[in-house]
Amino acid sequence: MLTRREFIRTAALFALAPHVFAETRREIWVNDVHSQLNRTRVRELLVPRNRDQLAEIVRSASRKAVPISVSGCRHSMGGQQFATDSICIDTRSLDRVISFDQERGLVEAEAGIQWSKLIRAYLEAESGKQKQWGIAQKQTGADTFTLGGSLSSNVHGRGLAMKPLISNIESFTLINADGKPIRCSRDENTELFRLAIGGYGLFGLIDSVTLRRVPRQKLRRVVEIIHADELPKRFEERIAQKFLYGDFQFSVDEKSPDFLQRGVFSCYEPIDEHEPVVAKKELRDDDWLDLLRLAYTDREKAFKRYSDYYLSTNGQTYWSDTSQLSAYLSNYAQKLRELIGGEES
Ligand SMILES: Cc1cc2nc3c(=O)[nH]c(=O)nc-3n(C[C@H](O)[C@H](O)[C@H](O)COP(=O)(O)OP(=O)(O)OC[C@H]3O[C@@H](n4cnc5c(N)ncnc54)[C@H](O)[C@@H]3O)c2cc1C
Repeated sequence: MLTRREFIRTAALFALAPHVFAETRREIWVNDVHSQLNRTRVRELLVPRNRDQLAEIVRSASRKAVPISVSGCRHSMGGQQFATDSICIDTRSLDRVISFDQERGLVEAEAGIQWSKLIRAYLEAESGKQKQWGIAQKQTGADTFTLGGSLSSNVHGRGLAMKPLISNIESFTLINADGKPIRCSRDENTELFRLAIGGYGLFGLIDSVTLRRVPRQKLRRVVEIIHADELPKRFEERIAQKFLYGDFQFSVDEKSPDFLQRGVFSCYEPIDEHEPVVAKKELRDDDWLDLLRLAYTDREKAFKRYSDYYLSTNGQTYWSDTSQLSAYLSNYAQKLRELIGGEES
């Protein structure tokens, strides 16, 4: 989210266009959300409201030879979304769904859309339709990622046999350094297609993405506690048994012989479409905060509580796309500091 100061500054900049790049008096600092290790001073922070504004910002910066950086939800922890004294473009307002292709399962959306909005939008638009499509994969651990940031990092989810997100990208439009839109796919501008996916914003600004979806399915979660030595074999078994998703969460108790050895092995198998979806047990934000607190103060208990919870959900059923949504506590570091004290990161 923009701070009030950032918002006022940005609104004022657009109101004052074409003096949008005029020298400013106060410094603007940005940072990544999760690690907060990448505090960077930028020259301007601009929030385009539509794709024409995005292209105009690029053209204008290009004419003046001012560097640009582009950010989505700022979750990358390597600082790739910022550059010192650049014009930082915040894409989160470019968040509209543009079109659906119900026949082929495609959905086109602006690059600043976040996963939960995208999923909600297609569920609403396609409710009651015979063919139900869903995203194949997204990141775990949070939903506040933009499609543009996900594409630019070529992310992966928990798909046991899936290639990274590039496998789910049909095409995208990229704004080049002249502010010109270029459509990229496996048939058009193929080199740019390969470079920009996983290109961390270095090859242009993605303004829209057409995503390939897969048929929505119902899944059953199967949970066991296993040892890391067994993992490769067990993953192979699950893949052979046609399980679609899975992960392994290690014990984090460094004093225990189980440290990074025993873990919760959860996999998801397709079930009959007529079975009901029943997932009564789920963790709320408070539970996650408590688990985080324990991960700092009592790791044995943290792993026990986490594994007990997961084992208690063995057999619960889910939809393949919404089961990938996950809680993320914004400002979790601050909340933890309030609970247990500690230094700034
Ligand atoms: C809690 C957490 C869990 C995570 N889990 C996973 C996971 O399970 N799998 C995984 O693969 N990754 C994971 N990540 C990493 C995450 O997927 C990437 O950092 C992702 O890029 C974040 O998206 P964002 O919208 O925050 O992008 P940002 O962090 O804002 O940007 C990421 C990169 O994309 C570029 N970019 C952003 N938007 C555009 C655009 N419109 N055009 C061109 N370039 C653009 C930026 O310049 C930057 O280089 C996780 C990160 C966190 C903090």
